[in-house]
Amino acid sequence: LQKLVEAEGWMFPIDLGSRGSCQVGGNAATNAGGCRVIKYGNTRASVLGLEAVLADGSVIGPPNKLVKNNSGYSLTQLLVGSEGTLGVITRLALKLVPLPAARHSLLLALAPATTPERGLDHVLRRCKFELGGALSAAEAMWPDFLAGAVAARPQVRSLPAGFANRLALLVELEGDRHEALARMAESFAEKLFEEGLIEEAVLPASERDAQSLWQLRECIPELQAGIRPYVGFDLGLDPAQYEAFVRRARERLARTLPQVRAYFFGHVGDGNLHAMIGPCRTPEEVREAELALYEQLTPLATCVTAEHGVGRKKKAYLGSSRSPADIEAMKAIKRALDPQGILNPGRIF
Ligand SMILES: Cc1cc2nc3c(=O)[nH]c(=O)nc-3n(C[C@H](O)[C@H](O)[C@H](O)COP(=O)(O)OP(=O)(O)OC[C@H]3O[C@@H](n4cnc5c(N)ncnc54)[C@H](O)[C@@H]3O)c2cc1C
Repeated sequence: LQKLVEAEGWMFPIDLGSRGSCQVGGNAATNAGGCRVIKYGNTRASVLGLEAVLADGSVIGPPNKLVKNNSGYSLTQLLVGSEGTLGVITRLALKLVPLPAARHSLLLALAPATTPERGLDHVLRRCKFELGGALSAAEAMWPDFLAGAVAARPQVRSLPAGFANRLALLVELEGDRHEALARMAESFAEKLFEEGLIEEAVLPASERDAQSLWQLRECIPELQAGIRPYVGFDLGLDPAQYEAFVRRARERLARTLPQVRAYFFGHVGDGNLHAMIGPCRTPEEVREAELALYEQLTPLATCVTAEHGVGRKKKAYLGSSRSPADIEAMKAIKRALDPQGILNPGRIF
């Protein structure tokens, strides 16, 4: 789909590590996010309408193509993110955006935050205010992740020594002209450097050079391979909490699971922190890994899944993200549309 529409000058902005294997029906069913949610929203924002087969065989649709349509409940938005539990999506009307003419990226090594006001959250705010509409992604990689990625993909690129043991932020800009984006990136990095907010930056010389930074961010399969069996996390939390959250998780893991490695990274620009912890070989070790992160979640202010969905693995923790009334209302919808529970049984609840 991306290739097809790009040939016509358009873009389907949902871009995931699973590009090439996932399908748009799966993207809609999971309300997938990815790297550019900060600018374009998650799949929900790109779905105008859909057609779906419900449990009783009836077909809802055809897909709405109107941008504004308030004629009753939005069945489209009900089905998006329903993880296949309410219907099988068979057609979609997707919203495209004009393909940006130019992209540029920069990698920042953040200075250790001496106060919360000088940490990742502050740098993210600066990105949003100063790069404005040009900002299309803001991805964080904690030091273990970045060092692991560089070691796993030595052919991709090396990084300046200033990145050692530093939280790194990969920022992407989109616009009309590459030169203008490069200038904007450079002056932004200079300003942060002068203010002591970053200690090092990589400003790629070419599109290819920029791509190599993204290849480090996408090194997940190699990192996973080194820690199998691992537990994956997909948390939603306020960016102001990230550094303390990760520090507390590491302190607890050092006590309870000293043998594991923990990689933290994520789409932090939109409040989505990922982690992979392993090897966790027994149910007890899996539980310990989960507790290190989930016990820190503040009821109803954070969530156990920001973009991957509840599925089966996170069911036990749904109550930490949604109120009892929310869960009852969801169950009532499920009962109404699928009274016999034949669609994706065992997911979400
Ligand atoms: C390497 C990698 C990177 C990833 N990165 C991201 C990321 O950055 N952001 C993100 O959000 N996700 C990510 N994912 C997770 C996953 O790829 C996405 O959630 C994707 O949208 C799932 O699409 P799929 O077609 O593979 O669906 P599947 O995995 O086949 O199915 C996912 C769920 O949707 C249901 N489903 C599938 N098709 C339909 C349909 N037509 N109608 C109704 N229900 C349906 C299935 O029953 C299942 O419950 C990643 C996965 C991998 C392997």
